Amino acid sequence: MTRLTVIAGPTAVGKGTVVRHLVESHPEILLSVSATTRSPRAGEVEGVDYYFVSHEEFDRMIANNELLEYAVVHLKNKYGTPREPVEKALASGKQIILEIDIQGAEQVKASMPDANLIFIAPPSLEELKKRLVGRGTETPEEIAIRLETAEVELASQGSFDHVVINTDVAQCAQEVLDLMQSS
Ligand code: 5GP
Repeated sequence: MTRLTVIAGPTAVGKGTVVRHLVESHPEILLSVSATTRSPRAGEVEGVDYYFVSHEEFDRMIANNELLEYAVVHLKNKYGTPREPVEKALASGKQIILEIDIQGAEQVKASMPDANLIFIAPPSLEELKKRLVGRGTETPEEIAIRLETAEVELASQGSFDHVVINTDVAQCAQEVLDLMQSS
């Protein structure tokens, strides 16, 4: 049976890299493109990385019930999953992955209990701090907020169907694929 796979995990755990690795080696697996109110980072492409929308447009999508789930992430911007591409993929028997935050994952589980929730965990909190500081995309204030969020997020892994530790990207992606195929 085709199930929706939801990948979540704390900031900087490398879940985006794992998911990209997975869909690049398995082009038949679709990846949901989220809408967000945050500004594009250098190199990000509209419609590929995100749909970059205004706060007004995001609120219109909520009001029209166009989002499967949405959340305010890192106390700042709204992120949400457009409902239609997910429903179309599932109806046509395709596998689709959502890479979203933990609040969003919990909302999906509540509305679609068949969804397979996979938590990507870091080898340790220390390693997570190292990755967050190392990638150099956030200001010190943003890093502090993200680390606080990460500690709360790490505590919620018990509500997921599976936990996979990301020590090595290729190995982590393979474990996720095995879980998608077996559950
Ligand atoms: P970033 O700004 O670094 O691209 O993403 C920040 C966080 O937003 C990540 O944890 C990411 O998983 C989450 N996120 C991305 N898209 C969605 C979405 O559609 N819904 C929810 N709830 N979170 C999302």
